[in-house]
Amino acid sequence: MRTMRRIANERTESQAILSSLDVGIIAYGSDNRLIASNPVAETFLGMIPDTLAGFLDRFGADNGMRTAFYLESDDVSGDLEIDGNTLRLVCQQHPLRVGGERFGGHIITAQDVTHFRRQEEQRKAFVANVSHELKTPLTTIKSYSETLLDWGIDEKNRTDIKSDVARIYDDSIRMERLIADLLLLSTIDSSRLHVQMTLFDLAECARQICDRLADQASAKSISLDFSVMSRHATVLADRSSVERILTNLVVNAIHYTEAGGSIRVYAGNIVDDFYIKVVDDGVGIKQSDLDNIFRRFYRVDKTGSRAFGGTGLGLSIAQELARMQRGRIEAESELGVGSQFTLFLPSARRILRDSLFEVSNKEKPRDAVATAAHETVRKWLGELSDDDDIMDDTGAFDLRGLLDIIDRKVHYRTGS
Ligand code: ADP
Repeated sequence: MRTMRRIANERTESQAILSSLDVGIIAYGSDNRLIASNPVAETFLGMIPDTLAGFLDRFGADNGMRTAFYLESDDVSGDLEIDGNTLRLVCQQHPLRVGGERFGGHIITAQDVTHFRRQEEQRKAFVANVSHELKTPLTTIKSYSETLLDWGIDEKNRTDIKSDVARIYDDSIRMERLIADLLLLSTIDSSRLHVQMTLFDLAECARQICDRLADQASAKSISLDFSVMSRHATVLADRSSVERILTNLVVNAIHYTEAGGSIRVYAGNIVDDFYIKVVDDGVGIKQSDLDNIFRRFYRVDKTGSRAFGGTGLGLSIAQELARMQRGRIEAESELGVGSQFTLFLPSARRILRDSLFEVSNKEKPRDAVATAAHETVRKWLGELSDDDDIMDDTGAFDLRGLLDIIDRKVHYRTGS
């Protein structure tokens, strides 16, 4: 009885393991007939053929698996496109033990690699884009300097030489900007970006950016107005990242608005989110392009963007930076009418209140925002109880007192 029970238990265990895998597993015996398959395999492939030959005919004909199998190749594998997903199928010969006897059967694994394949494609497209974007200015630099060296300096007049050198200079600046953006993207991608989360007023920060860019707007006869819809927009974020995002949105609005147009920047809040909205009456973006503008290197009008030194990376960097602060950027636009870009950031009050419960549950901070929030909460708790040991023996602390401190420090008033 004990042995029977042990065998039954082992069987249930291995079935549970097979069912919990996110890899499809199909086993064919030495007579090439189906022995077992797990539910994931059926979800991926539907009905599993009864024989290995049937499997290879159905799923291995176009990807070379069937040929490799009959040629007795060491590598019987292939990709299968099914319902818009990519599955990686690998067939391996295995000594299987069925009913106590050993058989030389086959095990096929099916893994969903859609995500990896997409990433791989994006990486390839990215490298192709980078090479192209670097090559364009480099070609100009090379051909202009070549001409100058060959005959230009001797035969061209001073003004023409100066304009050629200016062209070379402009394109070297473009390359420099592109490389700086690429380096920034790579530090963001590898989570190596040094961020310093502090409490600051988002509306105030937006006002400063508008002041800084006022000259650039007026040089193009564009009016740039700023209005605050809600006071005390305290956020817990990396100020230099936020400044970069807002600068990018306003500079884009200036670039893509005709002379004489107007840009309005609003600071406000929706429930627990603060937002900065940049509205222009410029060229606008059509819907099909609007879905893509946050993609790396995507530009609606390449020549127009290049003309002022755009890299096509600005918005994708801005979106990634916003996400790092638990925020997001949304865009609305109508071709020929204008565009509206909005940066949303969670209020410091919400983040700190959330982290209060995380700290009391002794949870580990899950991102840079939480790390800063936990530190801040611990510091204030220390101030509150006048000693560093923030919790009493029962692990409780003065919640009400701390909620009040948070509200006071972020200038929160009920009804505000
Ligand atoms: P770029 O360096 O080309 O400006 P971005 O990533 O900042 O790159 O923007 C991507 C594209 O989105 C731009 O090339 C432009 O076509 C479009 N775009 C961005 N902001 C605006 C705007 N305010 N009005 C119209 N088009 C815009």
